[in-house]
Amino acid sequence: MPSLLTALDCGRHIHLIIGSNPLASARCAKSIEVGAKPKIIAPADADVHYVLAKRIEDGEVEWIQDGFKDDHLTTLGRDEVDNVVDAVFVTSGGKSALSTHISTLCRRKRIPVNVVDTPNLCTFTLLSTHSDGPLQIGITTSGKGCKLASRIRREIASYLPTNLGAAIERLGTVRRRIWEEDHKTYQADESTAEVEDDDPPAQRPTFNRLVSEDDHDAARTRRMRWLSQVCEYWSLKRLASITDADIDTILRSYTSSSDPVPSLGTSRRPEPQIILAGSGPGSPSLLTVATHRAIQTASVILADKLVPAPVLDLIPRRTPVHIARKFPGNAEAAQEELLSLGLEALRKGHTVLRLKQGDPYVYGRGAEEYAFFREKGYLPIVLPGITSALSAPLFAGIPATHRSVADQVLICTGTGRKGAAPDPPPYISTQTVVFLMALHRLSSLVDALTGAGASAEVTKSDREARHWPGETPCAVIERASCPDQRVIRSTLKHVCAAIEEEGSRPPGLLVVGWSCEVLTDLKGKGRWVVEDGFTGFDGIDPGLDNLKQLVNGPELDAASSEEPSSDLLALKPVLMHI
Ligand code: SAH
Repeated sequence: MPSLLTALDCGRHIHLIIGSNPLASARCAKSIEVGAKPKIIAPADADVHYVLAKRIEDGEVEWIQDGFKDDHLTTLGRDEVDNVVDAVFVTSGGKSALSTHISTLCRRKRIPVNVVDTPNLCTFTLLSTHSDGPLQIGITTSGKGCKLASRIRREIASYLPTNLGAAIERLGTVRRRIWEEDHKTYQADESTAEVEDDDPPAQRPTFNRLVSEDDHDAARTRRMRWLSQVCEYWSLKRLASITDADIDTILRSYTSSSDPVPSLGTSRRPEPQIILAGSGPGSPSLLTVATHRAIQTASVILADKLVPAPVLDLIPRRTPVHIARKFPGNAEAAQEELLSLGLEALRKGHTVLRLKQGDPYVYGRGAEEYAFFREKGYLPIVLPGITSALSAPLFAGIPATHRSVADQVLICTGTGRKGAAPDPPPYISTQTVVFLMALHRLSSLVDALTGAGASAEVTKSDREARHWPGETPCAVIERASCPDQRVIRSTLKHVCAAIEEEGSRPPGLLVVGWSCEVLTDLKGKGRWVVEDGFTGFDGIDPGLDNLKQLVNGPELDAASSEEPSSDLLALKPVLMHI
């Protein structure tokens, strides 16, 4: 289990440090640094590390000249917490009887305890930290390598520009001044006050509503977004060298609620922009960099229902999002609603991202939307996405083409206009056919392909010429690239029974053709085989957390260390509220 990383306010806390060796001395130094008051427990005749001795002499550290006694835990602390100490550090002895005893006592009394070199006696561990003013970075290797933790810390620290801490301080000032100014201007009401926070704990219930120009709340949100963009897109080096003059320009560049989002340093009304982008089949790792950037910079996002939650998770929390309300019978109305919301937002000067699943021009109605916005005077930017039609077979180990097996690929829909079945493609033995939107009417599709439903007049040779043999291998691939991806390998003869028995896990598609057999041999394995789970990126995927890092700035892996320090980055969870 990973640990919960937190940043503790230790002001005026009492830290009980058992021992007087160099480690005890280092612990005391750290406690003093974070505003706590250290008290050491060591017998009167103990060797006291010389730095510690000096601190005792100077009155920074109190020395209780005694061996450890149980009641030290509940008598040496602050009055306001009934004299219970705030944390205990055992600096020698490791897994000795005394350490075990202290650890047990502390656990019972809920006092955080750390025992040197003995992770199982600790209820908390210290991080290897780098501090630069308000910036603190903490590293842990979860007890796997304290030396390594400190090496990683040094490397990360050396990568950071000097003066970053001071720059953070300055930007904090900007943020506070914007906040104060907004407060003054709008006298925010109770219900909206929390949005000023750069990182509000929850998106407000109105997030799904488009903002209007005279909407003060929205104006505030835009300014904060702009500040975030400065933080996001200026290089760290540039940020670190931010000057008072820069800050003044930034602050001057917006003055009233009707001001548009200022660009970096100049006051410019943004051009309305519509971006049609594909979000890939499911995994956020399959987003293009261009689409990822569009997700970060758009001021309004209109997403398809099929866009997977992990991709939606990447949307900055303050960006208003509308998810298409598509359900059977409502598709047309939902589409129109999205288009008119998009248009409305464009007319207000927004950068609108129309986020579509897979590729926007593969059964995505992308071109219809392109034509719609173009006709209204807004020429869309179109960003491709990885289509499920080609990536799902790949993730199922099916090459769309393969020398001497498949020299062509056909992508079809299983659902024709008004829900009718489209004509099945004729049999071509060297073709891989991918059917999207086909699983809800799989049996009629398979019947049409194999000629099972053909009328009696069709001659046998006709049938053989046009129709796909029942033994043609095929696969149903569902939720491709998602952790719950499922592949059912079968043949046209048995695939319907397989789906009936296994149930469905939308969205999914059907791949038909001899290419299904190129990398998988199903002989002797029964009528169908089910493969659950997605391992496509094992070993190379940076993981969603790293993508989130791009969104929210660095979040460092952490948990324990030998370093005489504490405190760490508070993690920012990314949550979408839909
Ligand atoms: N534009 C999309 C396709 C939209 S049509 C693209 O390029 O992928 C919707 C169909 O896509 C679904 O019915 C399903 O057949 C297929 N589909 C979408 N995502 C999928 C996924 N992750 N795994 C399998 N099929 C998927």
